[in-house]
Amino acid sequence: MSATPRSFPPPGELTWDQSAGRACIWCRRPLTSGAVSVGIIRDQFGAHNLDTEVWAGPCCASTTH
Ligand SMILES: [Zn+2]
Repeated sequence: MSATPRSFPPPGELTWDQSAGRACIWCRRPLTSGAVSVGIIRDQFGAHNLDTEVWAGPCCASTTH
């Protein structure tokens, strides 16, 4: 049984809430309880590291579907 990694949206398409970890990275629903960190979107602007930790709620965090 293996979890298939899901790709993240491009950094430029994230909403403010998604960047702040307040909304699901895939469906953009506001996160309440049960949110899990699902990875980091690597981004860079010049010398600035813009890595963003992204979160998903129970809506999308499951790997069973
Ligand atoms: Zn979701």
